[in-house]
Amino acid sequence: MKCVHCRKAKGKRYCPAYDGEICPKCCGEFRGIEINCPLDCEYYVEGQKNHQERIDKLRIQKEGIKTYVKRAELFNKNTEVFALVERYVATSFRSNRRIDNRDLQRGLEQVCKSIDTEIKGVFYEYDSENSYANEISYNIMAIVKESLKRYEAKGFTMEIALDIMNEYLSELLFYIDNEPGKQSYLIQIARSYPEDAEKPNTGQAGNDGESGLIIT
Ligand SMILES: [Zn+2]
Repeated sequence: MKCVHCRKAKGKRYCPAYDGEICPKCCGEFRGIEINCPLDCEYYVEGQKNHQERIDKLRIQKEGIKTYVKRAELFNKNTEVFALVERYVATSFRSNRRIDNRDLQRGLEQVCKSIDTEIKGVFYEYDSENSYANEISYNIMAIVKESLKRYEAKGFTMEIALDIMNEYLSELLFYIDNEPGKQSYLIQIARSYPEDAEKPNTGQAGNDGESGLIIT
């Protein structure tokens, strides 16, 4: 039987999204990105788990445990903001498969500059020649401002936003240096934020009020 995705190679494993046999190459390349994998697919879940473990191990090896601990602390205190940023990055990558790690890097660098100037009391949003980077930076700045409105009472500040953006930037640079493929980081974010999770999700813990923010 031919692969349900490329229709060329031999389908070798069962793909629940297609309800048919897929070739390992298509599964490895497109799972969680073009293929809307259900969370009970072992190839999807195991693949993600293995990838994350490998990256964490490699990063700890190269940068020490401190980076890992710092990121975990930042994440635990600002889970909602991390989710909003990642959901946005995952959605923008799915809707525009041409953007790559470098576009995201430029976008995040612009965001850092914009936040930094705001902290200093200057209100200026940076623009660049790169239209994807401008779009990414514009939308992430909107998320930061919305998060400030929502979570300021919980202690969220522009300084924390800058820490978070710098954290994304260093993780992204780690991917650029260590993971082959121009889109490796975008792929990882898209996979850790499956399409189903993007639908408004009422009544689930940790997701309160998020559906009010629509950023396209
Ligand atoms: Zn295939």
